Amino acid sequence: MSDHPQRELAPLAALGTLDGESLLDWREHAQGCAECRAELAAFESLAGSMGLAAGARRVPPRLRQRVMAAAVGVAAPARPARAPWVLAAAASLAAVGLGAAYLSARAQKGVLERRLARESAVTSLIKAPGTRTVVLAGLPAAPGAQARVVWNVEKRQAVLMATGLEPPPPDKAYELWVIAGGAPVPAGVFRSGADWEALHQMPWVEDAAQVKTFAVTLEPAAGVTAPTGPMVLAGAVS
Ligand SMILES: [Zn+2]
Repeated sequence: MSDHPQRELAPLAALGTLDGESLLDWREHAQGCAECRAELAAFESLAGSMGLAAGARRVPPRLRQRVMAAAVGVAAPARPARAPWVLAAAASLAAVGLGAAYLSARAQKGVLERRLARESAVTSLIKAPGTRTVVLAGLPAAPGAQARVVWNVEKRQAVLMATGLEPPPPDKAYELWVIAGGAPVPAGVFRSGADWEALHQMPWVEDAAQVKTFAVTLEPAAGVTAPTGPMVLAGAVS
């Protein structure tokens, strides 16, 4: 934990999600700290440019607690609670993504910007007509994992969102497969982060139009052309 924990609350302050004593403490600190004021201004401008302030108020309380705990140096749970499938509504997806992004708010602003851009792309994909969703269940190799693939044939876009997925060893990665009746077709490699979550924008594969099953295996980091490792997630298209 940094020796300057207030700085990590700057994103929440910018979005108006701090309240009560936290807000008073933060303001008091920021009055005497140019670094925090600069951080606040940067996040305010970022949030404003992306029209986020209103939606961010819906950051779920649990997530907010985790951010607060992380920022004040309290040990956060080693493994995040498996709440984040409140994704039914696109709006809450944005809020959850934002909250998760704030867990790493100690990372640089550029990281946050890229993440927000991806969340926003996912949100528009979910809302698009013709978009389909399949739930992938965790298999014995990753019993706590859960994922969804959201895809749209007309837009030729697909995204996998996973939670509860252990970060792979450095020389390994997860690989997504599209199975449409023939051999599995590789659909990109990805890694889960320290929060055990992953968001993978799948390169479009033609077979996705006829897909029967999506599956994820653990493979060498560069990916392979046919699955070799244990299958961690799978879901059939109904
Ligand atoms: Zn400060």
